[in-house]
Amino acid sequence: MSNNIHEILQSTLKGNEISRKECLELMEIHEFSPEMYELFYTANKLTRERSNGAGQIHAQIGLDYTACPRKCGFCIFGGIPNETIELSKEEIMTRAKNFERAGADALYLMTTASFDFSNFITLGKEVKKSLSSKIQLVANIDDFGSTEAQELQDVGFTAIYHAVRLREGKDTKIDPKTRMATIENAKSAGLKIYFCVEPIGPEHNPDEIIDLMFLGKKLGVEFSGAMRRTSTPTTRLHDKGEINLVQLAKIVAITRIVMVNSAMWNCTHEPNLPSLLAGANLLWAETGPNPRDKCPDTSSSEGRGLSVEQCRKLLMEAGLKESPQKSAS
Ligand code: SF4
Repeated sequence: MSNNIHEILQSTLKGNEISRKECLELMEIHEFSPEMYELFYTANKLTRERSNGAGQIHAQIGLDYTACPRKCGFCIFGGIPNETIELSKEEIMTRAKNFERAGADALYLMTTASFDFSNFITLGKEVKKSLSSKIQLVANIDDFGSTEAQELQDVGFTAIYHAVRLREGKDTKIDPKTRMATIENAKSAGLKIYFCVEPIGPEHNPDEIIDLMFLGKKLGVEFSGAMRRTSTPTTRLHDKGEINLVQLAKIVAITRIVMVNSAMWNCTHEPNLPSLLAGANLLWAETGPNPRDKCPDTSSSEGRGLSVEQCRKLLMEAGLKESPQKSAS
């Protein structure tokens, strides 16, 4: 067992922040080594203490299935999808109510960059009106300016999901500065920022991954975590393959440690047990079109998306209980 790794992890348990250099040392831990299990133990303990052993389920509705001008290499909509679909208002409302009834802690409305913003605002307003509980409403949409940020806030969105993705500007047609500007616009309008280190593939080096861990911390995001890239046929990055769930769990654990004093919730995607034993406590349920799924409805029997019930079962299997609060703050 490396003394240095042991000391870093012990210090973290006392609430001490880690440096970038220490973070790099953690990234170099060999899988299946004793240090790896000490890393998992440390992150798991920090998360469970912070959330009092609770987990959260955030539920996402994809509103449209269409070609997106941002052309992200990891996304089905960055290519040329073979059909175009937009959920009707009625379908969106039904799915929102179903997620609320199932006990989701937050509801995300997600679109491609092709979706009309004023239409999104109209739909968001309707969805917000129909929700009876304190469920958080979250926008996962294209970049926007300060006026749009205020509109989102005015109709009742409480947060946006917005990440600067790995190799943003190279694997996507978005300048990372544009993503940052959107985050700042949202913050200025009083919206919370939900963020995650994503989408991680085998080609990403530890420095690139650590950059995003520390960016999330610097931005003061409400939660962080890690998502691996799902290698989806027809996407440009399909041939690069995937990291495995143990590698993902390691990154989830280190992200937890980087956010040691700044976040109660730490996500993993797609939902998986190894990460839930390594410091994750936030999972996503999904329905409708989805960037990782050729199937136009990810919650159908052929789709990848999990239901709230399936996410809840995973949390229980990992020994986490349901969150008593309907908020990620
Ligand atoms: S990830 Fe989002 S922005 Fe990128 S191509 Fe897909 S829908 Fe468009």
